[in-house]
Amino acid sequence: MAQLTLDNVTKTFQDDDGEIIAVDNVSVDIEDGEFLCVVGPSGCGKSTTLRMIAGLEDITSGEIRLGGQIINDQPPARRNVAMVFQSYALYPHMTVRENMAFGLEESTDMPDSEIDQRVEEATKMLGIFDLIDRKPGELSGGQQQRVALGRAIVRDPEVFLMDEPLANLDAKLKAEMRTELQHLQEDLDVTTVYVTHDQTEAMTMSDRIAILNDGILQQCATPLECYHEPNNLFVAGFIGEPSMNFFPTTREGTTLRADRFEYELGDETAAAVSETTNVTLGIRPEDIELADSTAAVNTFEAVVDVVEPRGNENTAHLQFDADADEQFTMTVDGMTSLKSGQRISVAFPEEAIHLFDTGSGEAIR
Ligand code: ATP
Repeated sequence: MAQLTLDNVTKTFQDDDGEIIAVDNVSVDIEDGEFLCVVGPSGCGKSTTLRMIAGLEDITSGEIRLGGQIINDQPPARRNVAMVFQSYALYPHMTVRENMAFGLEESTDMPDSEIDQRVEEATKMLGIFDLIDRKPGELSGGQQQRVALGRAIVRDPEVFLMDEPLANLDAKLKAEMRTELQHLQEDLDVTTVYVTHDQTEAMTMSDRIAILNDGILQQCATPLECYHEPNNLFVAGFIGEPSMNFFPTTREGTTLRADRFEYELGDETAAAVSETTNVTLGIRPEDIELADSTAAVNTFEAVVDVVEPRGNENTAHLQFDADADEQFTMTVDGMTSLKSGQRISVAFPEEAIHLFDTGSGEAIR
């Protein structure tokens, strides 16, 4: 069983200004065969987390267990994990075959015939068998990335650790490799921890997403749970593109008073926020609806500022008042034409809104 557990893992670094807490008390259980994506803004501790699992970085406190065994003090070569980097890190003077065989030759006493067989199988699996005698300089970026993956596969590890492996590829190749990686991971059924900046990767590839901010784990859940039931304002704003709109409000009874509108809550929703005065109302751009007029409850007048056509849908940047700075976004289908300066009515359906405690950032519903 390659269940990987991080138990209250913390990592601090010392620099001239003092102590930096890169990873702050993170606990997560990654199931055997699970694909976990770690996301979060730059500097939130993603790579440090991965490097601690790989053994490339000491752990300040806490425990990392693989298959129930504590691996905190095991050197990287003794951990049955294989890491794939964004930079590929291939040896330029070696062929594909030599690059893929190198790690096994150096760190195991596996017979050459078995190494050869593993390398050939992996190149076939990755569709690069024909390139096996080429050097990295004679390969495209996508082919080099496959070699880097192959080097991890031949080690037959219990865990794959991937640090932005697709970051250097163009958008089309990235999309292709995303699908290939998913198939590969399903076929090999290897527990995978995958660090990425790219939300689409995280949403489409993972069984679960772990979202970090300032070294603190904000939520670890399936992509849909993170999207529909974010734990807090940070997750709500981080997951989803364009981002969720947020409106700070003050609650009086069943009314949420925002700067530019008043939102009337139904009794059940009002009961859920009855303990909170400062409530942030969140609504995703795709949940805002066009209305015929502002006659119905929770419909408001808005002015279209700019429209960004995206083919199958359009993103409209709206304002409650043409003179106000505050903007919010709505997405409409590609056939709905909105024009800059147009006055429209928009509805915020109650079933689609998210409510957060403005002070703590925690989700209320
Ligand atoms: P990015 O997405 O930009 O790669 P990240 O989420 O992977 O960022 P980390 O590289 O894990 O973030 O860094 C987390 C924090 O730890 C940052 O504040 C970083 O500056 C700090 N840090 C990382 N490595 C060291 C180090 N060797 N010495 C001091 N501080 C470090």
